[in-house]
Amino acid sequence: MASEFELIAKHFTRPSRPLHHTELGVGDDGALVRPAANCELVISTDLLVEGTHFFSEAEPESLGWKTLAVNLSDMAAMGAVPRWVTLGCVLCNEFNSVPSSGHFRPVGLPVSTAPTDKFAHSTDGGWLAAFARGFFACADRYGVDLIGGDTTRGPAGATTFSVTIFGEVPRGQALLRSGAQIGDHIWVSGYPGRAALGLAHLQGRTVLQGCHLDECLAALHRPIPRLELGLALRGIASSAIDVSDGLLADLGHILDAANVSAHLRIPDLPDAGLARDAYLAGGDDYELLFTAAPTRADEILACAEQLKLPLRDIGTVLAATGDKVKVFDRQGFDITPARRGFDHFE
Ligand code: ADP
Ligand code: MG
Repeated sequence: MASEFELIAKHFTRPSRPLHHTELGVGDDGALVRPAANCELVISTDLLVEGTHFFSEAEPESLGWKTLAVNLSDMAAMGAVPRWVTLGCVLCNEFNSVPSSGHFRPVGLPVSTAPTDKFAHSTDGGWLAAFARGFFACADRYGVDLIGGDTTRGPAGATTFSVTIFGEVPRGQALLRSGAQIGDHIWVSGYPGRAALGLAHLQGRTVLQGCHLDECLAALHRPIPRLELGLALRGIASSAIDVSDGLLADLGHILDAANVSAHLRIPDLPDAGLARDAYLAGGDDYELLFTAAPTRADEILACAEQLKLPLRDIGTVLAATGDKVKVFDRQGFDITPARRGFDHFE
């Protein structure tokens, strides 16, 4: 059975390359990094738990990408440049009761698969290798260094990844959730709802086809963190958040932080049905939702052009009223849904 050290060496250690902001990465008791002068460090942690955040049968390479991408999205929402990341892995061994077997349970396979199939996939560490490939593809794409972590076997149960990410932002320029002002406009990037629609398709709750299916599955499995947008919004947005729990739920956090309310009139809101529910309350999108003074609209539209990313003005911040958020359709009818998003404890 591969030891913890062999796993780390095989999957999570890479030959050192010249890195100007990392002095020492994986391999010692701690990493040494060199934050830029006059920057603040932005630090964020996310857990991904098998069965809660990803299916047991998730394809491991995409899962590796997504594990990092959702953390990069937090950096985007703060207007930060991501620099360093640590990765904690609790790898669950279904065969712990038979110590001599020594195989990790390959969480990439359905739980119902026959044990022999699991062995076939787990003997070469193929699952973890694919996970690491996806993770490093994302790290390389966005220039982040994996500088450390911890790896341990767990009892049979849920394989879990914990990522802590560190980014830099010039002092005082981070985008915060608080800061929305009455009269600000509310903007959202990209295509909210695609990830939830992709999930609905996989669960047999809808049938998508062609490019739309491809786009929705890509949004679900390989989300693109909106890092360039986060940087462009420094000094423009009055508040920002990434949409992980659903647009209305995450807008709720912005409104709560400033004790204000909002009216939404969404130009491209789909007709009533699953697509509309996904747009308003679907989670896992990792688009940026932000507020800005109306005078900044031209700059925001210029960003959209430059980044080739749709940015839509979807509503207005108002003084606090009884209803935190109201949603209106094109005819002005109130279509505010009851469910605002996804909450693990709901
Ligand atoms: P320690 O006993 O000091 O915790 P470990 O043996 O756990 O050290 O880890 C050895 C080195 O490998 C450390 O530098 C640690 O940060 C790194 N490491 C362990 N697991 C991972 C992982 N999953 N990803 C990246 N680095 C890891
Ligand atoms: Mg350790």
